[in-house]
Amino acid sequence: MGYITEQCKQRVIDAADVHGVISDFIQLHKKGAGFWACCPFHGEKSPSFYVNPARNRFHCFGCGEGGDAVAFLMKHQNMTFQQAIEWLARKYNIEVRYESKEQSQQERDDAKHRESLFFAVAEVQKFFIECFNSDAPDAVAARKYAYNRWGEDFCKEYGIGYAPKGSAAFFDFIKRKQINEDYLIELGYIGVNEADKSRYAMFRDRVTIPIYNRWFKVCAFTGRYNGANPDIGKYMNSRTSPIFKKEECVFGLPDAIKMARITKQFILVEGGPDVLRLQSIGITQAVGALGTAWGEKHFKQLHSVCNSVCFIPDSEKPKGNSQFGAGFNAVFRAG
Ligand SMILES: [Zn+2]
Repeated sequence: MGYITEQCKQRVIDAADVHGVISDFIQLHKKGAGFWACCPFHGEKSPSFYVNPARNRFHCFGCGEGGDAVAFLMKHQNMTFQQAIEWLARKYNIEVRYESKEQSQQERDDAKHRESLFFAVAEVQKFFIECFNSDAPDAVAARKYAYNRWGEDFCKEYGIGYAPKGSAAFFDFIKRKQINEDYLIELGYIGVNEADKSRYAMFRDRVTIPIYNRWFKVCAFTGRYNGANPDIGKYMNSRTSPIFKKEECVFGLPDAIKMARITKQFILVEGGPDVLRLQSIGITQAVGALGTAWGEKHFKQLHSVCNSVCFIPDSEKPKGNSQFGAGFNAVFRAG
C-alpha cells in the first residue's frame, strides 16, 4: 500500500463515466441531451440535478454542486480521494498501482502548501460566482455578455463568474472568509503596489472563466475585460504557480477527453472563450492554449488520448498553421 501512482489516478479518472457512476446510486431520467434527477445534496421536489454525458460531469442548478465521478463519490459517499479512485478502479477493472516510497518532509510540505492554494482558489471562485449573480449594473453587463456568448445554462454549469470593478468587495470577502492574503499574492489575485505597499485585486471588471485541472479542481482563471478602457488588455490569465503551469495548460482538456475518444480527434482553437463557445454547442472535444503558441508539452497531452487534431485558426488573424511548429512534428509526426 501507499500512494496511488499519478499514472494510475489518471487512467481511472479518464475511464470513469459520470453517468454510469451516478446511476449506481440515483435514478436518472433522460431528457434532451442529458439526464436529470432530484438533487441528492439539497432538498427539492423538481429535478435540477443534471448529468451532462458529453462533458462527463454533473451539476446542480439549485445548489451549485458539481464535478466529475470522483467528486460525486467523495461528496455522496463520503469517500476520500484515494477511496474514490479505488472504488472506480474496481468498477472499471483497472489495476491500482501504489508507490511505496516514503514522502520526504519537503514533499509533504509542498503537498500541504498546494492544498492550501487549491482551497484559496476555490474560495476565489465562490466570490466570482457571487459577484456574477449580483444586481450591480456591471454584473448585469457581465451576465449579458456571458449569456450571449455561451448561454445561461452553460455559464452556470461551467462556473462562469465576474470580478467586480473595484478592489473593496474582494478584500471584504477575504476578510470575511479569513483567507491568508499571502496565498492570494502567490497565486496572483492580489497585487502589491511597489511604492506604498498598498494591495489591490488583480482581476477587476472581468468575466472570469475557471480553469480546471485534470482532477476537476479549479486551479486558475482566464479573465475577459468587460469595460470600455482601450488601454486595458482584453484577456488576463492567472500567473504560473505551484498549482498552475500556464505554458503547459491545455484549456478545456478535462471536458474534451471523452468526446475526443469518440470522435478520435481534438479541435484546436485560440483561447478559452472560443473553446467554451464550441463546448457550449456540443463540440465538447474543443481545446485551446492560453496566450502561448502550441508546444510539445501541449501536444503530448493530446496525443495520449488520440492521434488526430483539427486546427481552426482565429478568423481575425492571417491564415496558416504557424502555431504548429516543432512541437507538433515531434509528437504527432514521430509516431
Ligand atoms: Zn443541489
